[in-house]
Amino acid sequence: MKRKIKKWTFRLAVTGLFIAGLLLVIILNPVLTYANKTEHNNHTLFHNKPLDPAVLTTLDQAAELLKASEFYNPKLRLDICLNDGSKYPELIKALRGQAFAWGFYNKVIMQGNADFKKGYVKLNGYKWNLTQLLAHEMTHCLQFDELGFWKSKPIANIPNWKWEGYAEYVSRQNDDQKNLFKNITRLIGANKNSWEIIFADNTIAPRAYYEYWILVQYCMDIKKMTYKQMLADTKGEQAVKEEMMRWFYTQR
Ligand SMILES: [Zn+2]
Repeated sequence: MKRKIKKWTFRLAVTGLFIAGLLLVIILNPVLTYANKTEHNNHTLFHNKPLDPAVLTTLDQAAELLKASEFYNPKLRLDICLNDGSKYPELIKALRGQAFAWGFYNKVIMQGNADFKKGYVKLNGYKWNLTQLLAHEMTHCLQFDELGFWKSKPIANIPNWKWEGYAEYVSRQNDDQKNLFKNITRLIGANKNSWEIIFADNTIAPRAYYEYWILVQYCMDIKKMTYKQMLADTKGEQAVKEEMMRWFYTQR
């Protein structure tokens, strides 16, 4: 009996490993699950439907925003996977959960409904600025490129506010987003019960991400820290928040 259990455990483990390996091959090679691919500058776009030229314009604008990052690497090559009928985004959703998009390793995977002409992605009735969403996810790829697999999330234990807040910091560069004092004022004025914070273009940031973002903005714009210094700093989220609010009240 014991022997049989051992045998079956072994078989199950082998099957599990095989499936995990197969999934990994599919995830690393979007070309297997998309009908088309288009090379554009450094990037490879994977898509099922004919490519709307607005996609390339949006991608260029997002790539431009990345230059604000100290991790910017003009040679970085990324796979941009559109959500236009391929099973690939569904697979990523099954593995990682629902989101507007995902960015990891050298891949950006769109989820939700993108309208490249109007410039937003819609999910559950909420709109995220499309250029900024792409730049957010591409920033995660920059983090990965600079820090490496073992020192990136989810392997490394980096607080969310530093990981997500930085992606927001790099991507949120519209005129109504550059000023920290105004950003804190917008947060204070927002409905306390709402999940989202709304920008001038009627797109949103989830409140949690918005709070992460302004903390990073405080550390980088006001305290003049680099992102690497922020990562090394041991001060916790709550302490930084209190310090930022003390700064805010001296500005009025
Ligand atoms: Zn993110």
